[in-house]
Amino acid sequence: MKKKICLIYTGGTIGMVKSEAGYVPAGQAFLNVLEQLPELYFPDFPDYEVIVFDPLLDSSDIAVDEWNKIGRTIAARYHACDGFVVLHGTDTMAYSASALSFMLENLDKPVIFTGAQIPLYEPRSDGRDNLITAMMFAASERIREVCIYFGGQLLRGNRSTKASSDQLLAFTSPNMVPLATAGISLQYTPAAGALPLPREPFRLQLFDKIPLGVLKVFPGIQFELFESIMTDKLKGVVLESFGTGNVPSARTGLLPLLSKAYAHGTVVVVCSQCAEGRVNLGTYAASQGLKEIGAADGADMTTEAALAKLYYLFSKGLEPEEVKKSIPRCLRGELTE
Ligand code: ASP
Repeated sequence: MKKKICLIYTGGTIGMVKSEAGYVPAGQAFLNVLEQLPELYFPDFPDYEVIVFDPLLDSSDIAVDEWNKIGRTIAARYHACDGFVVLHGTDTMAYSASALSFMLENLDKPVIFTGAQIPLYEPRSDGRDNLITAMMFAASERIREVCIYFGGQLLRGNRSTKASSDQLLAFTSPNMVPLATAGISLQYTPAAGALPLPREPFRLQLFDKIPLGVLKVFPGIQFELFESIMTDKLKGVVLESFGTGNVPSARTGLLPLLSKAYAHGTVVVVCSQCAEGRVNLGTYAASQGLKEIGAADGADMTTEAALAKLYYLFSKGLEPEEVKKSIPRCLRGELTE
């Protein structure tokens, strides 16, 4: 039996056209080019249906409401389709793929995010291979998770990050090998299909608009300037530290600030500014203080995954202490325990 793919166009460069204000997404233009792709008519190509969002967005405007909309769309077509391709702008694709990886609980079908650096209707568009190959991966029985397919690589969504603003190989997953590569043939690595099979039925956990923050430390940072945002309203902060979790010493005011946050119940997750490697609180004296104030070790999670995980855990109604305990646990293959 032919597989059926649900293709969801949310916006992004792949279907954009030039306007006086720069590139903007255009639904009809996208559908017109799509119709002309000969690959879609090959006899062994999967069947597909197309859902075009309204409004179409540059992914800079995609956040909780749109993640929930993508989640609801997938849930509504879950039993009718074998796999899903989400066409999305590249700028925040890693955030959305991370968010959906948590939101789609007990997922046992492929959900492949892709897009393009050059619009489909322009010469040299990378969108054509990205779209066609993403659809082929979405028809695969070996993938049961949220992925990003881009530039010949199938990556775990919540391990991915946009690494280049102008190269066609725009995404990397620095702490994990690709799930597959697309050369002459589609070659899966042992990482594909390595996640445990779900034991419960598929379920959608919608996200709430949880007040969260991301704070990148830098040499000379004046933490007192951030004091006004560290109120009890702030539920969680992803702290992008140096190296293995190091921060400027106490005299710069970070630790008193974070202790205040902690006293308010704000969960602090420590990630690294290094794309590759992991946080290990306490390795250096410069990270000991974070350990002492009860910050959660983000291990080798990307900032995108850490942020999505905070949204997810708080949306499930967990108390800050439970959220903190769940941060270092691997829920969707997003970190190495
Ligand atoms: N600004 C665009 C977006 O993220 C970039 C892209 O799609 O590549 O929607």
